[in-house]
Amino acid sequence: MLMMKERRAAIRTLQGWAISVLQEAGAIRECEEHAWMVDRGDPDARERALAVARRDPSADVSPEKAVTAIDDVLGSIGDTCPECAPGG
Ligand SMILES: [Zn+2]
Repeated sequence: MLMMKERRAAIRTLQGWAISVLQEAGAIRECEEHAWMVDRGDPDARERALAVARRDPSADVSPEKAVTAIDDVLGSIGDTCPECAPGG
């Protein structure tokens, strides 16, 4: 589907990269209905994502910057989908 291609293109940005690492580690998931990213609250998965950032940072960034990007994304993602949340 076209939408998938567009999402992959977003990985070019550092934030997009951080989201993809977090998703692969299982630290966040995407709401199937609304496409919001949701924090799964799994500390082991977060740790796995941070380990990837340190070991294999996105192109052109330092491990420190990659870790900061992961932290920033986690900080900006809620633990429920805003549109699935009751009353939301
Ligand atoms: Zn939702």
